[in-house]
Amino acid sequence: MASDRTSKIAVIGAGSVGATIAYACMVRGVGQQIVLYDIKREKVDAEVLDLNHGLQFVPMATIEGSDDLGICADADVVVVTAGAKQKPGQTRMDLAGANAQICRKLIPELVRLAPRAVLLMVTNPVDVITYVALKLSGLPRQCVLGSGTVLDSSRFRFLIARRCNVAVQNVHAYIAGEHGESEIPLWSSARIANIPLHEWAVPGHGKLRVRDRSEIFVNVKDAAQQIIRDKGATNYAIGLATAKILEAILKDENRILPVSSLLKGYRGIDDVCLSVPSIVNRSGVETVLEIPLNEAEEAGLRNSAEQIKQAIRSLGF
Ligand code: NAD
Repeated sequence: MASDRTSKIAVIGAGSVGATIAYACMVRGVGQQIVLYDIKREKVDAEVLDLNHGLQFVPMATIEGSDDLGICADADVVVVTAGAKQKPGQTRMDLAGANAQICRKLIPELVRLAPRAVLLMVTNPVDVITYVALKLSGLPRQCVLGSGTVLDSSRFRFLIARRCNVAVQNVHAYIAGEHGESEIPLWSSARIANIPLHEWAVPGHGKLRVRDRSEIFVNVKDAAQQIIRDKGATNYAIGLATAKILEAILKDENRILPVSSLLKGYRGIDDVCLSVPSIVNRSGVETVLEIPLNEAEEAGLRNSAEQIKQAIRSLGF
């Protein structure tokens, strides 16, 4: 197991998501050195000051911020959250052009400053942006990943757990494909403990009917829109989800997470970034798992790949 004692995390963008990722890492003791970079000097300084005022209460760490990208030098992991976010009614794909443009400037500079870093993309549309970052970086494919459907899967598990009145930690279920409109729920492999979800029928703990399933999936897909409409941005769950991915990387955990990465010859899917459960460790995405899929899920994954590919091609990549 690699130690995270001297690990350095660079967070690009100190907005709602970037600042909350730094906070979640600090509270969980992930990364000993955390730096934040943003083009808005006052904003990054204020976030870093606020975070530093809590240092007494968390594991030892240093937290610094700057509007100079040089602060990211020699980082072990660079997390990119910079860019436009959805306004109410906008889809993540609507952000593709503006956020790809930001990557064109940022990514080559970041690779020059932190050549050994794993790049973790969070900026939306995250699958498209992960592909763009991979191409701009020239790095091996395992070193560039996106937060993908880690967040969607935790929303999915939360809703199944609540419906069946069991602890969320006992629910094993994934959302795969795009982090967005074409994502798909992998019901066929979903389990509570080791009981397949379609067999789950425990008195006092519910049973999922077809209507419950579609309600749960609609809620997973619409969650971000609802939160953005009512509080302007999603930040806590993505902060925790990203801290968990960072921990898996820095502590070399071999943790299985549905991150977004470049697929090559995966069930007929090629040259596109999307999420399937994958083994994450210090090298980044070590192995993309060949997960069991029924026919509908496989077709859904192919459709998702097509949607993401179209967006990538429309950007000229
Ligand atoms: P925000 O507007 O609060 O923060 C974005 C920050 O990026 C701002 O502080 C801005 O100054 C900064 N920025 C813009 N251009 C920059 C550049 N070139 N270099 C450095 N910093 C720059 O937005 P947010 O709510 O933090 O969301 C950030 C991104 O994360 C959005 O694209 C959003 O859609 C995405 N997001 C992704 C997920 C996911 O699951 N992948 C979840 C939530 C949000």
